[in-house]
Amino acid sequence: MQFDVLIRQGEVIDPSQNLRGVRDIGILNGLIHTVEEKIEDAEATFTVDGRGLLVTPGLIDIHMHAYRGHAPLGLDPDSLCAAGGVTTMLDAGTAGSYNFEGFRRDVVERCETHLEALVNLCCVGLVAANLGELMDRRYADPDGAVKTIRDNPGVAVGVKIRAGKHIIGDGEDGRDNFMDAVRAARESETWLMVHIGESPMTIPEMLEHMEPGDCITHCFKGGSTRVLDPGGKVYDAVRDAAERGVIFDVAHGFGSFQWEVCEAALEQGLPPTTISTDLHVKNIHGPVYDMTTTMSKFLYLGMPLEEVIARSTSEPAAVLKQQDEIGTLKVGTVADIAVLEKREGRFVFTDSYRQDRVGNELLIASTTIRRGEIVPGGGGLRMRKLAD
Ligand SMILES: [Zn+2]
Repeated sequence: MQFDVLIRQGEVIDPSQNLRGVRDIGILNGLIHTVEEKIEDAEATFTVDGRGLLVTPGLIDIHMHAYRGHAPLGLDPDSLCAAGGVTTMLDAGTAGSYNFEGFRRDVVERCETHLEALVNLCCVGLVAANLGELMDRRYADPDGAVKTIRDNPGVAVGVKIRAGKHIIGDGEDGRDNFMDAVRAARESETWLMVHIGESPMTIPEMLEHMEPGDCITHCFKGGSTRVLDPGGKVYDAVRDAAERGVIFDVAHGFGSFQWEVCEAALEQGLPPTTISTDLHVKNIHGPVYDMTTTMSKFLYLGMPLEEVIARSTSEPAAVLKQQDEIGTLKVGTVADIAVLEKREGRFVFTDSYRQDRVGNELLIASTTIRRGEIVPGGGGLRMRKLAD
């Protein structure tokens, strides 16, 4: 059998199938063709020696910013894909109704990475995010967000609001903006991602309006708006919301991940649904760096490896309602695959509040495969030649 790419003898971890074990994976015509303990008589254009490496579904980052050159914080999705094992990304509302067409034409349609996006309630998105995109209520465009979602199926998949006082206003204005975002999500029959942080409403107040499939992002943020009450206990409303299917998403970011909050939540049985980065220009050179570093922080916190992988593959795929298509290594699905190295040593991990911790495992993307092709970039052990 002749394959395009063959990954030999990697330790496959695919939570979507409860699969963990050493396997060969044969890739043909962009799809996962064969997964077996050993594929006999196989040849391939490219062979990846997976011995000692982890082979997982392509990672899915459901909070990042990809509108480079338009919004000051935007990054290039393809270079992140190459370096980082992430084959599907969700741009978290960098564009709004007025500039979504440009975002689609100039970024989504030109990149190799599977990129989808949330539409910001603010009509111009995050062009001037530092000024607070909804401090002027006239910028709120729920009808435009609904229309944008209807006009861009499969690309515009939900609604985003950054619910901070300095972003959407305090008091009635803040509340009206929040409720506009809720309405846009309901009318478009999609979902709402709410950025928390110094918010005009408390998290329990916001959760009253959130449905299963909606998402609290930056869920382990410190400051005034936390998933913990003033006594450090997870709010009952938060626990109830998680149980009824509201998504709690990490979105580490520059100012949105605090060790103490995350530790308290994990201890009290509130793991994140999804691990994501909030990568943008201000955190890519630290403290976030990339998806695998963010995942490694959860290994440091004691989360089992399979769970870390699940919250970075099958769980975000389910949030995007594509669990049968991505975030899986099932035969017949698109060959989006991450080959990861788990290095042992002493590694400094920094949260968004500049607190360092030292962990002893670091995940590094070695090879990234997108639609059955090895993406240029990565490195490490992929350079090793296959030898018996
Ligand atoms: Zn963000």
